[in-house]
Amino acid sequence: MVDYNKFFSAKINDLKEGGNYRVFADLERHAGSYPHATNYRDGTTHNVMVWCSNDYLGMGQNSVVMDAMHQAIDKCGVGAGGTRNISGTNHYHILLEEELASLHKKEAALIFTSGWVANMTTLSTLGRMLPDCVILSDALNHNSMIEGIKNNKAERHIFRHNDPEHLEELLSQYDKDRPKLVAFESLYSMDGDIAPIEEFCDICDKYGALSYIDEVHAVGLYGEHGAGVAERDNLMDRLDIIQGTLAKGFGVVGGYIAGSKDFCDFVRSYGTGFIFSTSMPPSVAAAALASVKYVRAHDDLRQKHQERAATLKQRFRDAGLPVMESESHIVPLLVGDAVLCKNLSDRLLNSHNIYVQPINYPTVARGTERLRFTPTPLHSDDDMDALIIALKEVWEFFDLKMVA
Ligand SMILES: *Cc1c(COP(=O)(O)O)cnc(C)c1O
Repeated sequence: MVDYNKFFSAKINDLKEGGNYRVFADLERHAGSYPHATNYRDGTTHNVMVWCSNDYLGMGQNSVVMDAMHQAIDKCGVGAGGTRNISGTNHYHILLEEELASLHKKEAALIFTSGWVANMTTLSTLGRMLPDCVILSDALNHNSMIEGIKNNKAERHIFRHNDPEHLEELLSQYDKDRPKLVAFESLYSMDGDIAPIEEFCDICDKYGALSYIDEVHAVGLYGEHGAGVAERDNLMDRLDIIQGTLAKGFGVVGGYIAGSKDFCDFVRSYGTGFIFSTSMPPSVAAAALASVKYVRAHDDLRQKHQERAATLKQRFRDAGLPVMESESHIVPLLVGDAVLCKNLSDRLLNSHNIYVQPINYPTVARGTERLRFTPTPLHSDDDMDALIIALKEVWEFFDLKMVA
């Protein structure tokens, strides 16, 4: 008979041997003093500085957002009480969808329990329903898009990362009248590079393809109102579907799409990941609504965020640390080895109370393992001083070279 546990533990051992076994840092975040957190480890607690959170603006502890959530709990209780169709549509859901449509200057928006579910549901529904659809997907697209694209029978092809020529070469093979869908991200969160959105839109127009952009790492952070890179570059109206999250720049949880009224109604009516799952709690929708409104109105937060990222990159360069080129708020340090990356991260935490998660395969390609820093408006100059001192110590400890 099959020894199932033997199989499971062998699979786990494979990961451990390659340095790819994931150990979660056990954290208690501190409202009011983000990015500080309590780390539970070795049977005791430590105050650590978090350098790798996707709560890019600290909205997860913003007092306006917290107040909105408290009030909604007092008013509506804790759960939504059902799927959207069966008693689970709360007025906060409606208000949030209106706010998101207006943020992206689209006719409508539709919310999901996460950004992952938004991508998975929307792409799989399009692939399943559009007759004889062909899906073109960027080589570095996020798992949630890949799962959505694979979870249906549509023909699919991968184009080289951020390569409009390759996309055009592939698209031009198909009949003009055949439905086509092009899916990509605006800002890739591991390298921090940005897609040639306008060129992609031109190609989509030329070949009659729907354009689908994941702005998960850009919403709240780019554009005058935080609608993303497409807003910054004045391209929102050229994209058919904009997908985003409420969990990163907006600091809460949940995901969404924005597009035409008919399109959103179509996904609302046919998307199984939307239909068959209980809707997000009203308090979550209320918090997300407050956060989107706040972030829209606070371009100063975005400016400060960019300044902090640029400052940290410069300070890494000045210190001779191997900072990878990035045109965004993501600040990656190249390590290039999974075990070493994990060791660096462990020593930063255990000896310096600095928490930055090692980023290894499969999140990034082998040989490009890295420490990925996400400075927020709440990381001070002093925090950066302490970080640089710690990094120099661990770099020396592991006998790593500084770059000139
Ligand atoms: C995090 C992420 C998602 C999923 O969003 P969640 O709201 O965290 O589920 C989707 N796309 C990209 C590119 C992401 O990095």
